[in-house]
Amino acid sequence: MRPQTGTPAHQTGLLAELVCSNSLKSEMEESPTGRLKQDMTEAGSLILEAAHATRLPAGKALAVERDKFAEVVTGKIESHPRINVIRSGQDTIPEGYDHVIVATGPLTSPAMEKTISGLVGGENLYFYDAIAPIVEADSIDMSVAFFQDRYGPTGQGDYLNLPMSAEDYDRFMDTLLAAEKVSFRDFEKGYYFEGCMPIEEIASRGRQTLAFGPLKPVGLIDPATGEQPHAVIQLRKEDAQGDSYNMVGFQTKLKIFEQERVFRMIPGLEKARFLRHGSLHRNTYVNSPMALDETLRLKSAPHVRLAGQITGVEGYVESAACGFMAGVFTAWEILGKPIDPPGPETTMGALLAHVTTPHEGARFQPSNINFSLFPALGPGRTKKKERRRLVIFRAREEMREWLTHYNLSSGPTVP
Ligand SMILES: Cc1cc2nc3c(=O)[nH]c(=O)nc-3n(C[C@H](O)[C@H](O)[C@H](O)COP(=O)(O)OP(=O)(O)OC[C@H]3O[C@@H](n4cnc5c(N)ncnc54)[C@H](O)[C@@H]3O)c2cc1C
Repeated sequence: MRPQTGTPAHQTGLLAELVCSNSLKSEMEESPTGRLKQDMTEAGSLILEAAHATRLPAGKALAVERDKFAEVVTGKIESHPRINVIRSGQDTIPEGYDHVIVATGPLTSPAMEKTISGLVGGENLYFYDAIAPIVEADSIDMSVAFFQDRYGPTGQGDYLNLPMSAEDYDRFMDTLLAAEKVSFRDFEKGYYFEGCMPIEEIASRGRQTLAFGPLKPVGLIDPATGEQPHAVIQLRKEDAQGDSYNMVGFQTKLKIFEQERVFRMIPGLEKARFLRHGSLHRNTYVNSPMALDETLRLKSAPHVRLAGQITGVEGYVESAACGFMAGVFTAWEILGKPIDPPGPETTMGALLAHVTTPHEGARFQPSNINFSLFPALGPGRTKKKERRRLVIFRAREEMREWLTHYNLSSGPTVP
């Protein structure tokens, strides 16, 4: 629809405009994001081809010259003999087509939001994401942490608790309130609601508001003192193996370096390594595990697939990978072939599983590719570094097999 109709963040009429950072993140092969980029490159991704053609020096990250990158993508799409680019806002699902892919992104136009809301049910369309940080389990000081579910027996349960004394809490509050925040952009103001406030916003409402809210200690007894602490930070397992933990209720607009400084003041997190930082964004996305089937089709209108960030993947390359899968699945459907998605052990399959598998409890939140999305390895491997190396090796091998089997590979780029 651009440039005739803009969005609050895009500035040009170019396709694949990068609205914020010009980095496609780490290229390190042993990282999930590096592996995803390799997989996309091996699948012949235009996004990765354009990124490599316009890259800037940025250490181990793949950063690009923003405008040139978008120009390369736009040029290739516009000159493709079988693609017809029509620049106009689409308010409804076009009629008369057997196959439609909607990829209108985190800033989908209000009219299309309304259409999607009608298809998925209003309660399954979200307008912002509220993401809490994830920390690596072996960076938590287990000598102060204790397992217990609220009112459950101490030493057992799904939650790992970090107790705070009144003095710890006071110090933490002072630092939290003074920390630097990322400001909301104009179009983001007022999008969060009471159930999902940034932690620093709740803290600013009163000295003890956190202790009566997300940090409430009721029903939790610190085995070290036999008493209920003044406040408790609860951590919830983020993956089956317990390699990473989510800081419950800690969605935040603090700047990244401030999150590390402030949250490392929490007893037990002094040496925390952050796998993901917290955030709160304007972001239109659907509750995909409820609204989509396992091949990204709308359950209520199976001739329509969603793709990109609107499905609940997060990030430039993740959105492109989702687009790749939606394209392949649609092509197979048109050709009358059975649809065989990549397995959850692969980077793309892990993203697909994240957006199409029902999640228990918490509200469905978008995710970038990270270790917590991959299924656990079999028993017997305990060293985290080794496990991670094997997870990435398995992801690479299985993706290559899938791409080769279905003739989708342009060949490995790294031996
Ligand atoms: C403000 C902001 C900053 C972000 N920063 C980053 C970042 O730094 N790094 C990162 O990895 N990810 C970032 N993301 C997240 C996300 O990865 C990107 O937004 C990514 O571009 C999403 O890809 P997409 O293809 O799903 O959507 P988009 O790239 O947004 O593409 C969707 C397109 O659909 C068009 N459109 C919308 N509605 C209609 C309609 N009704 N009719 C026709 N066209 C329509 C839009 O104009 C847009 O061109 C950011 C998101 C936002 C909102």
